[in-house]
Amino acid sequence: MTTNQGHTSSGKYMYTSAPGGQYGTMRCANCGKQITEGQYRVREKPDRYVTWHRACCRDDQQWSVIDKQAANHKAHQLLLLEAAKSFRERWGVADLDDLIDDLEANFPVRGPQ
Ligand SMILES: [Zn+2]
Repeated sequence: MTTNQGHTSSGKYMYTSAPGGQYGTMRCANCGKQITEGQYRVREKPDRYVTWHRACCRDDQQWSVIDKQAANHKAHQLLLLEAAKSFRERWGVADLDDLIDDLEANFPVRGPQ
């Protein structure tokens, strides 16, 4: 999405950012220019990939969904950062390690590493 945080798929299209992956010729189906940076859209056809600059398919509603997800993710990370900082201030890192170890021992949620 905004900073190469991966791909988003919706229906027949995939949404991602350059530089990063490489889909076919990376030439925009709308303006014909090479896609070298920024967000772009990809459609996989049986024999090739078709790509568009974000600016060249800005009517696609999915972009606003992606922007919203990115904003939500950022807000969540900032809240988490604040919470982590205040936890560290109050309890210290060793307490956090102990807490995580205890919780993991009691609630094994992770599969085999
Ligand atoms: Zn274009």
